[in-house]
Amino acid sequence: MTKRRSDGEGWGARSSRPLADPLPEGGGRSVRIFTTRQDTLFGATFVTLAPEHPLVDEIIRGKEKAAGVRAFVDRIKKQDKAVRTADDLEKEGIFTGAHALNPMTREPIPIWIGNFVLMEYGTGAIMCVPAHDQRDFEFARKYGIPIRLVIQNPAASLDAKTLTAAYSEEDGRLVDSGAFSGMTSEEAREKIADFIVSEKLGSRKINYKLRDWGISRQRYWGTPIPILYCDSCGTVPVPYADLPVTLPQNVSLTGKGGSPLRENKSFLNVKCPKCAGEAQRETDTMDTFVDSSWYFLRYLSPKFDAAPFGRKEADYWMPVDQYIGGIEHAVLHLLYARFFTKVIRDLGLVKSDEPFTNLLTQGMVCMETYRCEVHGWLIPLEVVGSEKGGWRCPQCGRPAERGRVEKMSKSKKNIVDPEQLIAKFGADTARLFSLFAAPPEKDLEWNDAGVEGASRFLNRVWRLVAGRAFHDSGDSVKSIRSDATRRGAALRRATHRTIQKVTEDLEGSHTETPGALAESGSNVSSVRHRPFQFNTAVAALMEFYNTITEWQREGAAGEDEPILNEAIRTLILLLSPFAPHIAEELWMKTGRPDSVFNQPWPKWDESFLKTDEITIVIQINGKLRSQIRIPPGLEEEDVRGLALSDGRVKEWMKDRSPKNVIYVRDKLVNIVI
Ligand SMILES: [Zn+2]
Ligand SMILES: [Zn+2]
Repeated sequence: MTKRRSDGEGWGARSSRPLADPLPEGGGRSVRIFTTRQDTLFGATFVTLAPEHPLVDEIIRGKEKAAGVRAFVDRIKKQDKAVRTADDLEKEGIFTGAHALNPMTREPIPIWIGNFVLMEYGTGAIMCVPAHDQRDFEFARKYGIPIRLVIQNPAASLDAKTLTAAYSEEDGRLVDSGAFSGMTSEEAREKIADFIVSEKLGSRKINYKLRDWGISRQRYWGTPIPILYCDSCGTVPVPYADLPVTLPQNVSLTGKGGSPLRENKSFLNVKCPKCAGEAQRETDTMDTFVDSSWYFLRYLSPKFDAAPFGRKEADYWMPVDQYIGGIEHAVLHLLYARFFTKVIRDLGLVKSDEPFTNLLTQGMVCMETYRCEVHGWLIPLEVVGSEKGGWRCPQCGRPAERGRVEKMSKSKKNIVDPEQLIAKFGADTARLFSLFAAPPEKDLEWNDAGVEGASRFLNRVWRLVAGRAFHDSGDSVKSIRSDATRRGAALRRATHRTIQKVTEDLEGSHTETPGALAESGSNVSSVRHRPFQFNTAVAALMEFYNTITEWQREGAAGEDEPILNEAIRTLILLLSPFAPHIAEELWMKTGRPDSVFNQPWPKWDESFLKTDEITIVIQINGKLRSQIRIPPGLEEEDVRGLALSDGRVKEWMKDRSPKNVIYVRDKLVNIVI
């Protein structure tokens, strides 16, 4: 009956049973209704029809109330429909004398006619649940119609007799609802819909609704609407050659309201391009949403002045690979952009069917709120006191009440002034903290400890680099490839693992690992790694920093110095998108004169990622005496060294020096004594 919400899933019920079958005067008619709150069906205690509803005449025919009802209907029909749908409308109704049958309770319920029900809205018939709809509640109280509570709140504190307002905003648990009692609203919406369908009382339906969009504004600052009005020709579009219409510079903003363009006669008055008579320009301008619906096309050819955008560029670049925006864009801007794109496509101006390929809705930055009973909302950083001793208002010293953690907003003052933060910690810290504190799609709760943590990390990296002399200048990666010691190889592995991790966290990846899922029938396991995981990328950098410093503590770099240099430079390169200022300075300190931002993004080398060590058999005079594990590809000299310093080999050798050492690459060492 009632269309409670204009969108979402609901069901339309068409009672196949005669709605008024226990009531002889009903005549077995059914009425079609819509609802998204089928969980409240047991609480429907009356039905309200629009005065224009076709059933009205039929159900009042021959009734003693008929004349009164007809007079009411005639009076309401004359009222303006906009008035009848206004929120502050005084609700009026009249009982028809007829009853409907509630399909769930099978009880007869009175049929009313109400001034607030329109034929155009839903089906012109409303199922009224006074306990759970505020308008129905007010109507029921006014006319003494029973109120039946069917959704109980979590505290089970609601009572129909003492209810002062409808319980409508929140879900709860069903009561007094037959077999559905005890279910949550959510569960009951499913189960009752199933029941309605199985009993053939109605069906599920998804309704879509696109709201009309008034695109014009009575403002000066906006894109002019290129339309002229001529007394003889009517509405005339500005000729193509005269586009674009530009706004005049010399307008006076009077503050009196209305568009200042109306007052600017040189803009307003023009010659009609059709009849050369007097014409006037449209003085409304376009809503900003109009241009935000297609600006991405203009960005592709910003200097092109023959048309809004170049076809070649549009076909090459569109659609946009990645859209990042707040959730508030999801229903307006993104939807409008899709419609615009489809219209532009239908006009044959662009090939692309959709404006955007991927959407990331970033979370909000949240912070706790504080309130003083006299001074209202307080800026959290200015509140004085402590968690233990209590918080106080900085202006009057009264207790400050700590409220919920909410999205930062100027109105609640739960904001952090970036200027202060930058003055104290620098922009890099502010940036690093924001990226590290939460995945981008999740809300981020601001906390000072986190900011300090980010600052400490950057200071540590600073000390790691600033206190070190970098003697090399060449491309270290290639030259150190083969001559790493075992320690060096481990650090190099960490470097390349970190490059891989950070790169994949930023860009996303799709890796297929053969054989991993062999048992489950598939011989390829496919892992899709989402992009923009800045928080885990920063975590990987922190871990990498720890690996480097632990490695340094274990001993001097010695011949692995190029590998250590590579590790430190890689740390700086990987840090540069997150903390650009410090990264630039540190990069210079490593002896590289060119900007860190002119460096290619580091690439990881798969062969360095392998953790597998191989076993080398050690023979003395051809007999197996020991074995060691080394990374594959280690140089002969290193392997010899490792073999000769092995504890068991030393025991066998007893200070004798080897006559000869034979190395079979990656297999064995034979020491001849
Ligand atoms: Zn004209
Ligand atoms: Zn105060």
